[in-house]
Amino acid sequence: MNRRWWAIALLALVWLYPANASAGDVLRVVFDKELPPFSYTDEHGDVSGFNVDLIRAIAEQNGFELEFMPLEWEDAVSYLLHGKADVLLGMKYTSRYDRVVDFSESFFTMSEVLLVPKADSDIYTLNHLKEKVVAVQRGNTGMDLVQDIRRVKLLVSFNQRDALDNLMRGRADAFIGNRWTAAYFLDKAGRRDDFVMRSGLINPTDYAFAVREGNYELLDKLNKGLNQLYRDGTYTRLYSQYFEPYSPHVTDWWRKLVIALVIAMAIVVVTLVTIFTWNKRLQEEVRRQTAALADLLAFQRKVLDNTESAILSLDVSGHVTLINQVARRLLSLSDDVLGRHISSLLPQLPLETPLEQLAPRQYEGEFQWEPGSIRVFHYYMAPFANASHEHVGWIVSLQDRTEQKRLQARLVAQEKMRALGQLVAGIAHELRNPLTAIKTFVELLPKKLDDERFRAELLRYVPEEMERMNRILEDLLDYSRAKPLQMQNVELRELVGSVLGLFARRMEREQVEVVVEVPGELVIRADRARVKQVLINLVMNALEAMAASPRKRLTIRAGGVAGGVELAVGDTGEGMDPEELPRLFQPFYTTKAQGIGLGLYLSDRIMREHGGRIEANSAKGKGTTFTLWFERQEKEESHAQLAHRG
Ligand code: ADP
Ligand code: MG
Repeated sequence: MNRRWWAIALLALVWLYPANASAGDVLRVVFDKELPPFSYTDEHGDVSGFNVDLIRAIAEQNGFELEFMPLEWEDAVSYLLHGKADVLLGMKYTSRYDRVVDFSESFFTMSEVLLVPKADSDIYTLNHLKEKVVAVQRGNTGMDLVQDIRRVKLLVSFNQRDALDNLMRGRADAFIGNRWTAAYFLDKAGRRDDFVMRSGLINPTDYAFAVREGNYELLDKLNKGLNQLYRDGTYTRLYSQYFEPYSPHVTDWWRKLVIALVIAMAIVVVTLVTIFTWNKRLQEEVRRQTAALADLLAFQRKVLDNTESAILSLDVSGHVTLINQVARRLLSLSDDVLGRHISSLLPQLPLETPLEQLAPRQYEGEFQWEPGSIRVFHYYMAPFANASHEHVGWIVSLQDRTEQKRLQARLVAQEKMRALGQLVAGIAHELRNPLTAIKTFVELLPKKLDDERFRAELLRYVPEEMERMNRILEDLLDYSRAKPLQMQNVELRELVGSVLGLFARRMEREQVEVVVEVPGELVIRADRARVKQVLINLVMNALEAMAASPRKRLTIRAGGVAGGVELAVGDTGEGMDPEELPRLFQPFYTTKAQGIGLGLYLSDRIMREHGGRIEANSAKGKGTTFTLWFERQEKEESHAQLAHRG
């Protein structure tokens, strides 16, 4: 190969190499491996430090990949000078170095420190170092400081740590070196208090990245990178992290704590305010509801006190929980009745059953105020439940029925008197016939006493007529007297005949056609007087209903039906609407001006006393039929009775 080719190859190398080194993907980084907190390898062997973090941030901006080479200081410088590295992470600016490398813009002001044992009383300034042993790092600017002082004995190490170690082990009287690194190692060894810094900041110098002389491209990137770090706050953050007295993590932690506390306080305040306003609103609501409730209670009280009934409420066991004015007056009670047991206030009330019942229901009835007294009370007792349907007590209402009872009794008596009037009129008529017959016999007696036939007829008819009169009188007495049912066999046709006999004159006068279809053998077992009263009532009603009818016909039919005997009284009177029928048998239901409304009520009662029943059928304007049912009479007995009577 000739010289020309060598020259070209060399040129290519020179041209290619720096380009590769500065703009290539991998940036070879060298640094002093024992210079905390600027650059060091930590206990895990990881590369760390302020300078390291700065270059990492810049590399990230530019897309460099970093290849770290932790070295002794002098080796690091040598690597850079010999092109084995692209950048040296931290170098103090000196004119000597400026001739062989290029510096980036300064990112720190470095200074040296003079460190002596605390007990030392000789060394205060650099001038006092004569004849003393001073530990320094080789190649460090600190070394330059003391080199010129005469008779100084230098103890040189390759790095700051070893130099400091010499001081701490007592091999040196003083140490000159990096202020922050010294503090770092002393703290780490826990010996900060054993040494003092005699001269604060010695020789403040710019501290910067160094690149090989002429690598402007990389220099430019480093400078721009640093500027970017200043602007975006990364520099400040890293500075705080490595040099501020308090760890930024700690301050950060404190800041977070304070923020959290402020937020918590704010939440508490908001919550308190909310609770307070809510409370206020609730209070207001409660006040309003209470007022409404009080109004309601007052209203209920008024209603309760102004009813005519005595009202009490009891708890489940029967103790009084509420009582109205009427009840107080009625029972002549004082105020302190609340809580007392009802049985002590109203022993007359039959309470045992209701209070002991598991499934409570309504009770109703009457009781006498005192034994033998005419005062009668109606009581009504109903259980009441709370909102969840639990039985919680009783409502008891009492009404004085004495007056009503008295009135009722009077009306019953009146109705009886009216029927009695009819009866008496009928009886007068009835008695006349037998009396006439007897009178005739008596008048003929002197003349015909010897006549055989006359005597026979007299002996047959007179007792018969007298028996008839006797029966009429007995009916009359039965009617006015209240006594237990006197059951006997009653021949229906005979009974119907005797009732119709009572009305014979009236019916003749009013031109009422009478149809009777009652078989002679029909016999019922009943209290004759009472059944007669029923028939009288029905015939009376029928005649009254037909008063205005053009064609008056009274029909009485009887016959045997399944299980009993049926007797129907029909008329061709005014009739009734269907809705009137259910009310007929209620006491005092009447449509007549002079009516009392007890006829059908009593009839119904009598029929039920007999185990029978009464029913009405009616068509408005056409007529009405009342039907009575009686239980079937045993045949044999009826024959025996008939035989006896005959
Ligand atoms: P009173 O005869 O005193 O009115 P009742 O109890 O005997 O009382 O009858 C009640 C009511 O039933 C009568 O007022 C009448 O309206 C009606 N009533 C009873 N019987 C008849 C009937 N045969 N035809 C039409 N209405 C009748
Ligand atoms: Mg009547």
